[in-house]
Amino acid sequence: MGPDQSAQRSLFEDRPAWVDDDIRHGTVATVILPDGVDKPLDYLVPEPLVSSVEPGRRVRVPLGKANRLRLAYCVAVRSGELPQTPLKSVAGVEDDKPLLSRRMLELTEWMAERWLARRGEVLEAVLPSGVRMQRKVKVSPLLVATGLPGDRKLTPAQAKVLAAAAEPATADQLTRASGASRAVVTRLVKNGLLQEVGSVEARRAGASERPGISHDRPDHLSPAQADALAAITGPMRAGRHETILLFGVTGSGKTEVYLQAVEETISFGRQAIVLVPEISLTPQTCDRFRARFGTVAVLHSHLTPAERHAQWREIAAGRVNVVVGARSAIFAPAPRLGLIVIDEEHESSFKQATSPRYHARDVAEWIARAENVPLVLGSATPAIETFARCLAGEWRMCRLADRVGGSQLPGVLTVDLRDPTARARGAVSPRLAAGIRWALDAGGQVMLLLNRRGFATHVQCRACGHTMRCPQCEIAFTLHQPGNRGICHGCGLVVRLPPDCPECRAPGLAHRGTGTQRLEEQIRRTFPDAAVARMDTDTMRSRGSHEKTLDAFRDRHIDILVGTQMIAKGLDFPSVMLVGVVNADAALHLADFRAAERTCQLVTQVSGRSGRGQLGGRVVVQTSTPEHPSIRAAAAHDYEAFVRSELPIREALVYPPFGSIIRLVVRGLDEERVREWATHLTARLRAEAAACGAAEGQPAIRVLGPAPAPIPRLRERFRWHLQVLGPDGAILRGLVRRATAGLKTPPDLAWIVDVDPVDML
Ligand code: ADP
Ligand code: ZN
Repeated sequence: MGPDQSAQRSLFEDRPAWVDDDIRHGTVATVILPDGVDKPLDYLVPEPLVSSVEPGRRVRVPLGKANRLRLAYCVAVRSGELPQTPLKSVAGVEDDKPLLSRRMLELTEWMAERWLARRGEVLEAVLPSGVRMQRKVKVSPLLVATGLPGDRKLTPAQAKVLAAAAEPATADQLTRASGASRAVVTRLVKNGLLQEVGSVEARRAGASERPGISHDRPDHLSPAQADALAAITGPMRAGRHETILLFGVTGSGKTEVYLQAVEETISFGRQAIVLVPEISLTPQTCDRFRARFGTVAVLHSHLTPAERHAQWREIAAGRVNVVVGARSAIFAPAPRLGLIVIDEEHESSFKQATSPRYHARDVAEWIARAENVPLVLGSATPAIETFARCLAGEWRMCRLADRVGGSQLPGVLTVDLRDPTARARGAVSPRLAAGIRWALDAGGQVMLLLNRRGFATHVQCRACGHTMRCPQCEIAFTLHQPGNRGICHGCGLVVRLPPDCPECRAPGLAHRGTGTQRLEEQIRRTFPDAAVARMDTDTMRSRGSHEKTLDAFRDRHIDILVGTQMIAKGLDFPSVMLVGVVNADAALHLADFRAAERTCQLVTQVSGRSGRGQLGGRVVVQTSTPEHPSIRAAAAHDYEAFVRSELPIREALVYPPFGSIIRLVVRGLDEERVREWATHLTARLRAEAAACGAAEGQPAIRVLGPAPAPIPRLRERFRWHLQVLGPDGAILRGLVRRATAGLKTPPDLAWIVDVDPVDML
């Protein structure tokens, strides 16, 4: 620990000198702690450390009375006159290179303000833990057979290993190839019959384990695709920022436009970042990028910290041209960035659910603006916020109105569930059943969407109406078979449900509502000749099961795929002739101002899975509100009509995109205490809003609440929430910051602030 010791020495040597001096000069570092104190702290940089303390590296600094050493991020360094108050000194430097560029440091400062997060928390969020821990990828030695064993007798196992080691291979590869045990290999190394000739990284970080499906690059783009490509490559070549929305129906060739835009970016000597909602749900998109480009870093959640660190270094060194990943891939340290793409930009997974609660779309726009590169957003169902910015002329919209190759969008039939004949035989109406039969008879495949897992959605007493609820969350238990298990979808608690009502002792409980498990059972009974599979978080627990099921579906080993919204994402299977939406209303009545938008997006997206091939396709949507604009627009493949009907509603209520929302949620075990604290926060916010309104002429600021949250209890904790709404986000943030400054939170309570929330439950 060389720097450490010298730092300590200088601490003692220097101090007397600067106590005596009147005008003192020196170097001061401003640091941010990852947690604890939120405000930036200044430290003196002792002479021996001046050359190594720089913004973006971490340093060790003494903190508090005990001068305990803490790791902190250096965010600024300045030389000159020192302040009057004496400063403590930096004790040591942690990193030999900056982990964060100046641009990234600026970004974290902006993010902290934009989402009311602690700067230290943001700094930790933009660096993967493997990078922070400087984890090294495990290295395996490469072994090769040294030659003739001489007169030594070889066992058959040894002979096999040596045969396999004619070419250099790792011990793992040798045991796999020969079927011999590891001990045999170790023995041969000891005997000198195997020799180490080098090493490889245990698993080439991010290298694809699945063979890529080769998608041929089409010879010609459609005119609409060519226009969209030009709209992207123009600014890219000119080094100019622009945000471009590709608003294109499913199958209109958006991904092909991204691929060719990335191609141009690479040939221009630049790197591209491509964000997808979730790697495991978008295997086809990732495969297409892998198949098209040589060096693609796919940042998925299965990477170990060491692998992530290795990827990070490859990207930072400029050895990787394309980065594909979920939300946090936006922080990839690409030194020659030329393009950012966000596929399915409307997906709520682009917003982080824990602090810092940032939205990757906004972060991407900040980066693209700072780096003077284009940002491409793509969706068949753009977020209303995105659409509005295009209508306002701020962002450019490119439409891809038709499917590639002239295939038609499927005809959509809505089935009114208020009609009793529609529900006579369970969750599948006669018309949906007829549609399934039609598709199977024509040699096609079927996808059925039901956004509730489990067997029954709730279990209720027929006599007294009592519903079985989770004691920790008060959420109705979902019935899962076999075993009559009640599972809470809030906290995961599993109980065995009793045979009789615990309230009135009446025998037999009714299994109400249909989940995917029951639907699968009904479908198997109704279509005994068809191969049926189910895809939801219950059946997709193990790693790789998602890919396996999709591969089986692609290879036609499955005729009918039943699933939750997992099946609605960017999948392209040409033989799907029927898509059934079993209950389109499931999400429509949630206490969330985006409920209609989400419903329209989900129904439109899943409908787009049908009729992609030559055989044509149909969609059947079951709903109790066929007249709702979100259902009508989805049925007509006219998402824009929905946006135009929704915008005036948002405007009237000053909801996004016409205003900003900051949501506060208070949690605790004692409901009365939670209510009290929520009320206290509300009063402070109201007082601040009143002052703000008087000062800045902002009568439109509203503070709603406090009230129990739509999910009033979760994991035993009661939840109350309140919302601050107003036309100007920056003013709202200032208001919340002032109202909550210096607030001491009682130890039995916790509260969070969510700026521009996407989850209102
Ligand atoms: P989206 O991303 O909008 O759903 P894709 O890019 O996946 O659309 O295109 C749908 C299908 O059409 C894919 O199989 C793709 O390979 C193919 N495709 C895209 N563009 C063209 C083109 N210009 N010519 C021929 N086939 C194309
Ligand atoms: Zn629960």
